[in-house]
Amino acid sequence: MPRQALYACETCSTADREPAGVCLACSLTCHDGHQLTELYTKRNFRCDCGNSKFSGVMTCKLCPDKEPLNDNVYSHNFRGLYCTCSRPYPDPEDSVDDVMLQCAICEDWFHGRHLGVDVVPDEEDFDEVVCEKCLERCQFIRLYANHFPGTSVCRAFYKIIIIITLVTTTTINLLWN
Ligand SMILES: [Zn+2]
Ligand SMILES: [Zn+2]
Ligand SMILES: [Zn+2]
Ligand SMILES: [Zn+2]
Ligand SMILES: [Zn+2]
Repeated sequence: MPRQALYACETCSTADREPAGVCLACSLTCHDGHQLTELYTKRNFRCDCGNSKFSGVMTCKLCPDKEPLNDNVYSHNFRGLYCTCSRPYPDPEDSVDDVMLQCAICEDWFHGRHLGVDVVPDEEDFDEVVCEKCLERCQFIRLYANHFPGTSVCRAFYKIIIIITLVTTTTINLLWN
């Protein structure tokens, strides 16, 4: 399950352009000196640098001959929004001191208080988290968690997440859809 760091280029994109992501290598070469926003890791994402989303603005120096469009999923993260509350991060209007956690399945980022669990455990206590929406879609994680009464869902499912990250993306997509 290859994951790569991705960036959105503010310099090359305008408000009416579709969201796009470029790879680390392109961020350093094709978009050197541009205003880049880190999108954190996304799995199975193909670099959009220089494709039709950038038409008339720039061409990719690393790979000039690209497919016009990639079959990527563009979540609201590509518009600089995170969590179920769809807020930017950092959020100038949010005065609450809260952790941001990435869901291992949908890869969105969530405020600890919006994760849908009663208590967010210390970060040392789990490897990865799953958001409430993905938990609902992945019933077996919930079933698994129910086998450990008294443990928070977070605590119980970190074990199964290790298993999930070992299975293929296809399986994840099946669960997701
Ligand atoms: Zn690239
Ligand atoms: Zn750029
Ligand atoms: Zn490029
Ligand atoms: Zn939130
Ligand atoms: Zn999720």
